[in-house]
Amino acid sequence: MIYLDHNATTPVDPEVLTAMLPLLREHYANPASRHPAGEAVARLVEAARRDIATLAGARPRDIVFTSGATEAANLAIHGVLATAPPDARRVLVGATEHPAVLGAAHAAAERFGGSVQTIRVHPDGSLDLAHLRALLRPMPVGGPASARGPMPAGGQVALVAVMAANNETGALTDPRPVAAFAQEAGALFLCDVTQAFGRIPVAVAEAGIDLAVASAHKVYGPKGVGVLIASRSARGRLTPLLHGGGQEHGLRSGTLNTAGIVGFGAAARIAATVFADEGVRTRALTDLLYDQLVGWLGADVVEVNGPCEEGTGRPGPVRLPNTLSLRFAGADADAVQACLPDVAVSAGSACHGGTDEPSPVLLAMGRSAATARESLRFSVGRFTTVDQIHAAAAAVARAVLRVHSLRATTAGELSAAGTVGTSEQPGPPGTAGSSGASGASEQPGASGTPGPSGTPGPSGTPGPSGNPGTSGELAVPGEVPGRALPPDPRRLAAPGGGLIPELPVPRSALP
Ligand code: PLP
Repeated sequence: MIYLDHNATTPVDPEVLTAMLPLLREHYANPASRHPAGEAVARLVEAARRDIATLAGARPRDIVFTSGATEAANLAIHGVLATAPPDARRVLVGATEHPAVLGAAHAAAERFGGSVQTIRVHPDGSLDLAHLRALLRPMPVGGPASARGPMPAGGQVALVAVMAANNETGALTDPRPVAAFAQEAGALFLCDVTQAFGRIPVAVAEAGIDLAVASAHKVYGPKGVGVLIASRSARGRLTPLLHGGGQEHGLRSGTLNTAGIVGFGAAARIAATVFADEGVRTRALTDLLYDQLVGWLGADVVEVNGPCEEGTGRPGPVRLPNTLSLRFAGADADAVQACLPDVAVSAGSACHGGTDEPSPVLLAMGRSAATARESLRFSVGRFTTVDQIHAAAAAVARAVLRVHSLRATTAGELSAAGTVGTSEQPGPPGTAGSSGASGASEQPGASGTPGPSGTPGPSGTPGPSGNPGTSGELAVPGEVPGRALPPDPRRLAAPGGGLIPELPVPRSALP
């Protein structure tokens, strides 16, 4: 299996696991216990707190350990609204926020008599700062009516919640202007740094972020542990969700998840040393994936959702480097996924997966429901290899072409002779005979000849001249006869011989 879903979750780094195991074996004491065994574990917890704070650009005492980013967002938002004056319980949320933040904001507004308003984003997913400024202006209590019905409470904004990096598109938001606008309006600023933490520089204190949330399992740590990072002044405005032993400044009662916390600390320490190189590497891998897919399918079929270069439409330089959201014109994403048993990708966010609704993130960016339904998110990671990208691109291209041909068949567009995409009968975008630049004759070939985008084709893989699809060897039901098909990745060999490497690949083996 080729895993390209690191924004949903990452594998635990082997070094993280090594750091965690002693906490599950010999160092099992409760860190709140006043005996040497407990104190030894407490020291490990405090070391992890320091490592996480360092990577976040925050102070160790600002860190509150939670079960994940979802709990941290709930703690922050419920806490702020619980203590806000009744005429200042407005929450502003970015239109592309994660359900962890959106759900918490709506629940807290309902519980404490506040309201939630959405800050628009631009078509590339970046925040509309002018709209934020407009929304920050004080409003009279009781009006105006919002999309969610009459506003139960108006006046001052209590909280602005905007994420640093979007989990679906990789769109980035500079937190500094958001922090400045929020501060000017007397509101607190909550920044969801879950996807940014350990991947791009994060400087919570310097950026003026009052509250930040992050999670270990997005940065090669374990699941079930996260943090709320709360500045001193923001901490004073919080109330706990959980009551009990008073751990974590009384903000999060319950025995600490010591193995998880120490694992998170190790993950942060590793990320601090590798993230700059990893960013360069994952960006190159996502760029390669895009080039390969355009090579196989044509630029008229493959479209970037989110930040892209003006003019070329290529993935933009300012984005979460490991993330690529692509629309495949004419190919329903669920159908493509169903044809991709060996490649783990995501249609919409993982938390949104399982519903039939198109991605709210893409809709908020102005995409149509139909376009959003044709979109897949690819997120590469620390252990993804170049060979895996080649193999995944070929597999995805095969799947897209198969869905195109199935669609053409369903629509009755196949000719009696069993061909599609002739000049008389155009097929779906990108199939032979369509108006785009992706006709079979322009597919990248076995010899690494340039594809339509001018990038070398997948070297060493069978191209159109030796098209295995036409020989029948790799024929799959619904294939387009006569159409050049990318190779089946399961039959690809890695350049050094042997099979495509399975995860995890030791760090020392990475380029
Ligand atoms: N925020 C973002 C941007 C995420 O991607 C996720 C995870 O999917 C979360 C919050 C929730 O994190 P957790 O799984 O730790 O609750």
